[in-house]
Amino acid sequence: MVDFDQTDIQRQIIQTAQDFGNEVLRPAEIELDQVADPEEVFQQNLFWDVLGQAFGLGFHKMGLAEEFGGLGLDPSTTGMIWEELGRCGAGFAASLLPGAAVQQLIALLAPQNKELVDRYVLPYAQDTTGRKISAWGSSEPNVGSDGSNYYDTNIRHHTSAVKKGDRYVINGTKSNFISNGGIADVYLVFACVDPSQGLRGSGAFVIPGDAKGVAREKAIDKIGLRTLNQAAVFFDDVEIPEHYMIFPPGEDYPMLHNAIITVGNLGVGYLAVGLMRAAYEEALAYSKERVQWGKPIFEHQMITKKLFDVFMAIESARAFLWKASWLCKTSFPGDLKMSLAAKIYATEQAVRHTAEMVQVLGGYGISKEYPLEKYARDANLLPIMDGTNQTLLIKAAAML
Ligand SMILES: Cc1cc2nc3c(=O)[nH]c(=O)nc-3n(C[C@H](O)[C@H](O)[C@H](O)COP(=O)(O)OP(=O)(O)OC[C@H]3O[C@@H](n4cnc5c(N)ncnc54)[C@H](O)[C@@H]3O)c2cc1C
Repeated sequence: MVDFDQTDIQRQIIQTAQDFGNEVLRPAEIELDQVADPEEVFQQNLFWDVLGQAFGLGFHKMGLAEEFGGLGLDPSTTGMIWEELGRCGAGFAASLLPGAAVQQLIALLAPQNKELVDRYVLPYAQDTTGRKISAWGSSEPNVGSDGSNYYDTNIRHHTSAVKKGDRYVINGTKSNFISNGGIADVYLVFACVDPSQGLRGSGAFVIPGDAKGVAREKAIDKIGLRTLNQAAVFFDDVEIPEHYMIFPPGEDYPMLHNAIITVGNLGVGYLAVGLMRAAYEEALAYSKERVQWGKPIFEHQMITKKLFDVFMAIESARAFLWKASWLCKTSFPGDLKMSLAAKIYATEQAVRHTAEMVQVLGGYGISKEYPLEKYARDANLLPIMDGTNQTLLIKAAAML
């Protein structure tokens, strides 16, 4: 049964996200986007103040189960919020996504591991400073799209985890692209225990950010999502207790990876819808005010067509994501093919239509006086996040 009604709770949370987005998130995101040195963004009080406010409102723990201090919201509701946050601050929202994923994974995979739950999950849920931010690391300098190649046993994570008594010793480097890599309080790292099994030889390890031997690179300089810290992380003889491995190597590794990308890619898709909406709203308003050839440009049909095209893309991408989220809610972790299809569709539409909205503003579209050029820059990162659309498409198409 298809039903587009929203519950009172959904309406309330969406309103909160919209108010926070319009009043706090968007001005901060735009100001920080213009800071030239990427490292400086994460040294500013403004960045931490906004992240702290987002935590205070619970946006970091939307999908975390209530027994762990989370809000326990279902994937459709969290999707609606990700869209609102993406509309006003896609960079901040992209920073909240992996943090939430790591804590949910610890809670899901190691609910009886009291030490990890007490040390990480519960303090994360209670945090209102934004400092308890998490990161997950699969990709490495030479393991990008290969991170989902389970078929060739020569492909593996080069970050290693070697058992020494009741501890694991971790060595290796995770790529420049690790979201929150330079600022995380804790890392969920995929490291190779048994090289003979290829990627299936990897386990998932919780690594404290303050453990001896953990080092962080400076934030990379990039075209968009500039409030998302992305940085390499180095592990040099980092020792952790053996029970910090929350998923062992073996045949089930692809299942874990597929579950992560089934859920994670939905969030990326919703950010794309949010960005498209932001660009559409801005361009629509401008088109009704800007007069050329004696009338508002909205009355020129070529402009109206561009606006109607993005309107259709927003509605269709959102409906697609809602179906994939519903599948996630009704049969966790959802349907891999549908999630990937929805993410690919939404992010491709976002790249195309944010660029079209720049054109609607003519010369003003490329000026920093308007945020259109920022939305277009931000959109370009989304087809790569959580796996490139090309490799996701190959994976999904094979399931037809
Ligand atoms: C915003 C953002 C956030 C990210 N956050 C994280 C994170 O938190 N943790 C993490 O571990 N990683 C993260 N990543 C890294 C991301 O997962 C990788 O960038 C991605 O998997 C691609 O790897 P790569 O960049 O090395 O590109 P490559 O794998 O080198 O790909 C280069 C090009 O080749 C294409 N290609 C590769 N293989 C094939 C094939 N078989 N067929 C056709 N085309 C192919 C790709 O589609 C791409 O166009 C993030 C990336 C971005 C952009």
